[in-house]
Amino acid sequence: MDGEHSNIVDNANEMRLYFSAISENEAFARTAVAAFITKLNPTVQEITEIKTAVSEAVTNAIVHGYEGRGHDKRVQLYCRITGRELYIEVTDEGIGIPDIKLAMEPTYTSKPEQERGGMGFAFMDAFMDELNVTSVPGGGVTVAMTKTLGDGS
Ligand code: ATP
Ligand code: MG
Repeated sequence: MDGEHSNIVDNANEMRLYFSAISENEAFARTAVAAFITKLNPTVQEITEIKTAVSEAVTNAIVHGYEGRGHDKRVQLYCRITGRELYIEVTDEGIGIPDIKLAMEPTYTSKPEQERGGMGFAFMDAFMDELNVTSVPGGGVTVAMTKTLGDGS
């Protein structure tokens, strides 16, 4: 790539994955992010928090976005490290969220019959520094999260 015309910041490191929207890939996605950030020398707590946030976002894409029918659907996971800042984006092209504010309220769930606690967004919000959710109803959801890691000590 021509560095001068690259749209990523100098010294950034990025990766993008696409995977089938099936539950066995929840573990794959969180493990992939954990591997990607190894160079940042994260603490055990940081790894746990980031893996949980990724897991919640990917699970939502699979169970809500594609309503569990995702063998022919895919989830996109994009990560970028700039300095000690980690940016993560999880995107699906599923049903979308009609009311984002309501969806993000702790304990709100549209699937109480599945015994969901409605805590996914609350965990993402608590464990990451920034959380931004955008959606086009009928066009899917993008969850963007950032977290600045400590100095690794
Ligand atoms: P839990 O995460 O505790 O199992 P939950 O998934 O219902 O329960 P959240 O993760 O907080 O709770 O999500 C809240 C609601 O937002 C969901 O019930 C669903 O209606 C909606 N939602 C979240 N992610 C998506 C998505 N990718 N596509 C469509 N709807 C979504
Ligand atoms: Mg959830």
